[in-house]
Amino acid sequence: MPSMIRRAAALALFTAAAALTPLLDAKVIDAAYPGTLTLKVDLSDAARKIFAVRETMPVKAGPLKIAFPKWIPGEHGPTGPIEGVTGLKISGNGQRIEWRRDLEDMYVLHLEVPAGVSTLDIEFQFLSPTGGGSFGAGVSATPRMVVLEWNQVLFYPADYHGGRVQIAPSIKVPAGWEFATALEKTTATADGASFKPVSVTELIDSPLMAGRHFKRIDLAPGANPPVMLNIAADRAENLDITDAQIKQHRNLVKQAVALFGAQHYDHYDFLLALSDKTNHFGLEHHQSSDDRTVADFFTSPTACLADPALLPHEYVHSWNGKFRRPAGLATPNAGVPMKGELLWVYEGLTNYLGEVLTARSGMWTAEQYRDSVAMTAAAMDHRPGRAWRPLRDTADNAQTLYNTGNAWSNYRRSVDFYPEGTLLWLDIDTKIRELSGGKKSLDDYIKIFYGKDPAFARTSHDVKPYDFDEVVKTLNTVQPADWKALLHSRLDSTEVRAPLDGIARGGWKLVYTDTPTELFKASQKESKMLNLMYSLGIIVASDKGRGAEPGEIVDVLWGSPAFEAGLAPGLKIVAVNGEGFDGDQLVAALTRAQKDKAPIELLVHNQDYYSTVKINYSEGPKYPRLIRVEGKPDLMTPIAAAK
Ligand SMILES: [Zn+2]
Repeated sequence: MPSMIRRAAALALFTAAAALTPLLDAKVIDAAYPGTLTLKVDLSDAARKIFAVRETMPVKAGPLKIAFPKWIPGEHGPTGPIEGVTGLKISGNGQRIEWRRDLEDMYVLHLEVPAGVSTLDIEFQFLSPTGGGSFGAGVSATPRMVVLEWNQVLFYPADYHGGRVQIAPSIKVPAGWEFATALEKTTATADGASFKPVSVTELIDSPLMAGRHFKRIDLAPGANPPVMLNIAADRAENLDITDAQIKQHRNLVKQAVALFGAQHYDHYDFLLALSDKTNHFGLEHHQSSDDRTVADFFTSPTACLADPALLPHEYVHSWNGKFRRPAGLATPNAGVPMKGELLWVYEGLTNYLGEVLTARSGMWTAEQYRDSVAMTAAAMDHRPGRAWRPLRDTADNAQTLYNTGNAWSNYRRSVDFYPEGTLLWLDIDTKIRELSGGKKSLDDYIKIFYGKDPAFARTSHDVKPYDFDEVVKTLNTVQPADWKALLHSRLDSTEVRAPLDGIARGGWKLVYTDTPTELFKASQKESKMLNLMYSLGIIVASDKGRGAEPGEIVDVLWGSPAFEAGLAPGLKIVAVNGEGFDGDQLVAALTRAQKDKAPIELLVHNQDYYSTVKINYSEGPKYPRLIRVEGKPDLMTPIAAAK
């Protein structure tokens, strides 16, 4: 539509949105649902990944549509694992009620409530995933712990606003297990609890974690609102967090509060699952986060170095993603499609701030922070897919890109709004610092955009939506510049080289040397992958990792020496220069080829066929790092410094 109309529409949207929570869909009823639903979830059989569900729903006689949550907040897509719903039995007054699935929307069931029935009884088992799947649709239960995403164990009245349907949840956990959630407990039982009724939206936003090996740490002693770190682990020894690590996580709370200048939660609970058996990811919520990483996260020096930004990232989302959310993602219920066009703010800025807070809280040194930026910059600068898919499209198309895996991700591009968000917001941060002569920074923008708003009381789940124009307007409030043009040029660019202006303006330069940084080494060790993207042009499994055998090629850089020689993701390197595959030997072969200029010879297995591949590459190993540009002010060190 013409730009004038679009601007008027956007303005109308912002005005309406500022007055109320999420954007309303015409089909959704924005009125209180009569009565309160109840939900009992029995997790006693978590070891077998079977969750038993009993739900009641007040109803009136006549046609009814109920729905299983489809569009999952934070997953930004239609990812609700409805395939896990089994043994479904719907009844009223003890009589079975037939249902039929909608032929267009598989998440919706149609039924006819008989006369005289005022409560629907819904029973089913949710078969929690045994493998595959992303986010909560991956493995979530083990014989030692379980993470319950409530969206997997409930149906809701399909036509109603999720914030207007009240539900009273209760839980049963395996004997002797402890649990944590942001929900408020009303009654504790020997093996579970009942919780205060909340809206369906709030319930979906309040996961519960239970486990046999459990620890609870106060991250803000004496402070209001309180912040707790709850940890469940595979083994008791995985809970051995050191005093120094506790201090860093307490710093995280202090630094985040200093950055944002306000908190929009009544209390906050990190739900940290340390397990080598569950899926690994983070999922943000308003008053908690579902954080899942490796079992030895606190006890291995490389594990906590490789990815300490998990908790900072999810915590930032309480402000950027939950309190403030792009209008297109602030949907009224889980049946309304989400629009991801502003994910470069929702996720991109969170990626940037999560890493900055990781450094400010002392989980990384300033040098390790720069090493991380170097890795991101190198990855984005080796993305030939930039020439056809602009950054904007990675956000618009996020719903499918989350599940595309590593193969050819450099040419397809993936959810690049995360890593490129780091470059984009560093660019903006350094530009504000430079233009204002060091008087202003992105921190000032953050305080305005995410700070206290009298129209929004400090209660959970009040969403204050935003649009592109508000981002531009706020940037101009902090420091006048043509931010709109800058953002459009970054979002629409099909320039094959990554925008590294923020690094240059920060007084640093991306270079490649023959030695990996400490962070790069830790990352390779933890991912069990050898990253030779900047030399041969491949990433290869170096050790038996998740779903990949040693020697298996995870990705090949489009147009690289490895690509030209005929390699592709999924092929397996069996031997290097006549010797059985070994990661160290492959790196040694690169160094040797630098001296003797002979091709590197690989024996490759492709499905049932073997072939020999010769790669002409003699420039040796190359790993990214930042080096200082003398004579330019160093803006990156102050960005990483504690406030
Ligand atoms: Zn995120």
